Parts: sequence; C-alpha cells; structure tokens
Amino acid sequence: MREIGVTTDKTGIENTFREITETAQNCKFHNCTHSNEIGCAVKIALEKGEIDVGTFQNYQKLEQERMRLEISYEQKRKNDKKFGKMCKQIMSAKQKTKYLDD
Ligand SMILES: [Zn+2]
Repeated sequence: MREIGVTTDKTGIENTFREITETAQNCKFHNCTHSNEIGCAVKIALEKGEIDVGTFQNYQKLEQERMRLEISYEQKRKNDKKFGKMCKQIMSAKQKTKYLDD
C-alpha cells in the first residue's frame, strides 16, 4: 500500500478516498461523521467490506487533522478581525481627542 501523507488539501484527500467520499454522499445526514449515525452509508459499506477499514481509518484521521487546522485558521482570522477593530477604535479615539484639542 502507498503511504499517505497528511495534507490540508481537500481535493487531495477526496481523490485518495474517492470511494469513501462518494459513499458518504448517500449518508442520511449531511454532516455525518460515519461513526454512530443511523443511516450511514459508509458504515454499511464498511460492514459489507466495500470500503477497506484501514483506508477508512486513515480517512478519518486526515479529516480530523484537516478540521483541526481549519478551526485554528478560523480562530486566527477572528483574532485578526478583533485586532483590526481595536486598532480602528484607538485610531478614531485619537482623532476625536485631536479634534477637541483644536
Ligand atoms: Zn456516514
């Protein structure tokens, strides 16, 4: 089996695990994690042996890693936004003070 490196590239993951992602489209829930959900098409395919358990485990690991990276990116973006807002407030406060001084 070919070694699969951890990547944040979504299309890369989807190509490698095409079988799983295509099956996942038949899951009852759109945000299915394929673990305990009722009507999970991936779980059924795993039970039938249509999807390799090892491949699926790798898929889940990568998905978790990708989500973790996406969350931290989102958090960073929020912090940047907050920082930007704070800068604006300080700037406008300074401008007001200047205006009053004149
Ligand atoms: Zn599922």
